Amino acid sequence: MVVRMRANRAHRDNRRAHHALKASRLSVCSNCHKAHLSHTACLNCGMYRGIKVFDAGKKLAKKEKKQKSKQNANK
Ligand SMILES: [Zn+2]
Repeated sequence: MVVRMRANRAHRDNRRAHHALKASRLSVCSNCHKAHLSHTACLNCGMYRGIKVFDAGKKLAKKEKKQKSKQNANK
């Protein structure tokens, strides 16, 4: 690239003016009253709009199992 084409500080900063991160919009679960991402199943209880989408307890147990096996591997 030629120096003539190089973006100056103003061009660079104008481009980066749109790079700010937005806070994720959280809504409250109707089942367990915990915060979860809107349009997404609740990670705490696995409910989405009053329907059970996945077994949250099962997933939690699996996660704990994985952590335990990891801890044993480190020993
Ligand atoms: Zn929930």
